Amino acid sequence: MTFTELGLSDRVLKAVDEAGYQDPTPIQAQAIPPALRGRDVLGIAQTGTGKTASFVLPMIDRLERGRARARMPRSLILAPTRELAAQVADAFQTYGKQHKLTMALLIGGVSFADQERLLDRGVDVLIATPGRLIDHFERGKLVLTGVEILVIDEADRMLDMGFIPDVERIVGLLPFTRQTLFFSATMPPEITRLTQAFLQNPERVEVARQATTAETVKQHLLYVHKDDKREALRQLIRTHEVNNGIIFCNRKRDVSIVFRSLIKHDFSAAALHGDLDQRVRMQTLDAFRAGEIKLLVASDVAARGLDIPDVSHVFNFDVPFNAEDYVHRIGRTGRAGREGASFTIAINAEKKYVTAIEELIDSKIPVVEIDGLTGEDKKSADSDGKTKRSRSRRRDDRDPPKDDRKGRRRNDRRDQEPDEPVVGMGEHVPAFMSIPLPSRKSKETSEETVG
Ligand code: AMP
Repeated sequence: MTFTELGLSDRVLKAVDEAGYQDPTPIQAQAIPPALRGRDVLGIAQTGTGKTASFVLPMIDRLERGRARARMPRSLILAPTRELAAQVADAFQTYGKQHKLTMALLIGGVSFADQERLLDRGVDVLIATPGRLIDHFERGKLVLTGVEILVIDEADRMLDMGFIPDVERIVGLLPFTRQTLFFSATMPPEITRLTQAFLQNPERVEVARQATTAETVKQHLLYVHKDDKREALRQLIRTHEVNNGIIFCNRKRDVSIVFRSLIKHDFSAAALHGDLDQRVRMQTLDAFRAGEIKLLVASDVAARGLDIPDVSHVFNFDVPFNAEDYVHRIGRTGRAGREGASFTIAINAEKKYVTAIEELIDSKIPVVEIDGLTGEDKKSADSDGKTKRSRSRRRDDRDPPKDDRKGRRRNDRRDQEPDEPVVGMGEHVPAFMSIPLPSRKSKETSEETVG
């Protein structure tokens, strides 16, 4: 199947050619022809499959004819996050190069006045997050009765984020005669209900989730002690050709700890989590896309839907609680047929999540070892928890002293981990041990956080 066979106009084909795409991806091949004919489409596809172009290209084609009127957008795209909305806007700019379509992006963190000025002039395409759109609507600046095409992108993410009531309210303001293109990576019952309410006799298009993970991403799994996770991460980064990578953490708190740790160890890194100001997030993403930052430490919420081409590696600093998040995470690499690698750093307590992932992807993730950090003894120590207390106080997560980088001392110390008292010192108390504790303690605490 070629792009020409899909029925797109010459101008759209030219833009696709300039974007460097040779053939449509499966979701594009299946979704574009019915969308061009004006049919509703239910697309079940995750990020990385080329789904954005599968709705943007036919939209541009259909919007070629007709003109926008003041405050009455002709099409509306709802996206769950600001970043995703901004990426869809980028896609419009890329694929709409040959057209003079006008566009407004209604997302938080951007001034109302600028957005309203655009709306006043009339836009062909309105891209928005649900909350911001409702804000504008309530200010009386927007009339939605002229919307001919509605796109709902990442509907399951909207559900996770609690946006469904907003989405339902917005859809209630649109004309019944519109065309609806609805995309979701998964189909939980609540989403199925929405598709029944929003879509009329849709063409259902589904692309296998697994195909994008299993075929182009080389997956790895390693088990370490929880205190060794950061060390394991550093070793993985140092020993693999990491052009750029995303490091996923389950918790916001760990995003900042891992980020600070990487900076401390001289890696080029930035953090991305939901609490960061919009401007900072955009700047961070731009720097990452431009290659100025090599490693991005992120939480799932912050990263969902980000379109970052050419990521060479994904590191799961934690095993995601939700097996589908694993698929989303590693889908950041190996995109659109490129090769990628993922490393999941697990502790024994996370084994149950690994099992759930392996069931979902229907294959075993190959287990790899790192000298000195992984191995059966450590694994069993983790699982029985007996050494937990003494290990949690260990300092060996930090780099060894410069003269002992081979890790000999670290391993010796690890051998002494159990709670027995250290023998061999006699009654002698070395001078350094009499240094008052408070200042030293506070220094150690802060180092432990970022080591
Ligand atoms: P998406 O799933 O929409 O986030 O797209 C994932 C990535 O695939 C984006 O970087 C697109 O630029 C790229 N892409 C989309 N369609 C194609 C195509 N037909 N050929 C090659 N790359 C594509």
